[in-house]
Amino acid sequence: MSASRGRVCVVGSFMMDLVVSAPRRPRPGETLVGTSFAQYVGGKGFNQAVAASRAGAATSFVGRLGDDLFGAEFRAALRTDGIDDGGVLDDAEGGTGVGLPVVEPGGQNSIIIVPRANLRLTPADVERSRERIEAADVLLLQLEVPVEASLAAARIARGAGTAVVLNPAPYAPLPPELVAACDLLVPNEHELAGLAGAPVPADGPEAVEVLARDVLGRHGVSLVVTMGATGVLVLAADGASSLVPGRTVEAVDTVGAGDTFCGNLGARLAVGDALTDAVAYANAAASIAVTRHGGAPSAPEADEVEAVRR
Ligand code: ATP
Repeated sequence: MSASRGRVCVVGSFMMDLVVSAPRRPRPGETLVGTSFAQYVGGKGFNQAVAASRAGAATSFVGRLGDDLFGAEFRAALRTDGIDDGGVLDDAEGGTGVGLPVVEPGGQNSIIIVPRANLRLTPADVERSRERIEAADVLLLQLEVPVEASLAAARIARGAGTAVVLNPAPYAPLPPELVAACDLLVPNEHELAGLAGAPVPADGPEAVEVLARDVLGRHGVSLVVTMGATGVLVLAADGASSLVPGRTVEAVDTVGAGDTFCGNLGARLAVGDALTDAVAYANAAASIAVTRHGGAPSAPEADEVEAVRR
């Protein structure tokens, strides 16, 4: 691993997950006794920032928290992971974003998310963090904050030579200006299908590559497509493709695997790794994360990733 630290800036979301286990979803008007409750810090932005920081990047965050107890927990969590929270605003009106998953026996999971303060992040908030974005080697974006805020961040980054990496999740149609400002898109197969305006590809990297080439042809942007246990397809802007196979592990919880992948990818690109090397590293990091429970908490430290790569 390179001795110097890369710099990653995340403009993204916080979501406090309040997870209930219950025999089933209640019917309308019914009160049901659940079997367990747990609370986890999460949100794609937060998870990716934690993963990047643990991968060794000097990481900063731009986002909005509620001025409430959940917000205070996130501040503490950011500091625990050594993430610069100077670009995180306390929102007196919108509370901290929450996710309310109900887990039924067998692991079936349905979730309501209420983004709250995340949806109040503005281009002006992003502008206030201009120096953080300009100082970064890599800007990491997802789609859980308003697209205008992401676009403002991408434009600042482009102007400063900061590489823009977008994980288009959860998928929503992207304004062409945002795609044009990106250096790299990191979708999973479902998000790739959304980008291509096509059905989710049948199993197999070949079908994924066909769609990825279609997106490259239309937007001229490099793609890294994550395919769960199968691995990762890399399609560079010059048309060169390669497949990084998934690592064989005992997966117990794949929640947040994509976030661990993106955070590690950003951290390695930030120290100057070639795209396929950064992908191999992120693939190893995400394969560790799926052997552990939780989203952000499952992200490995750099020495753990180095150990499985030896
Ligand atoms: P999530 O939404 O659950 O965070 P995702 O759909 O965005 O995940 P995936 O493609 O499922 O992303 O997984 C991201 C990466 O995590 C994969 O490319 C791979 O590196 C790793 N990974 C996921 N599942 C497994 C698995 N079962 N075994 C090994 N590695 C895995």
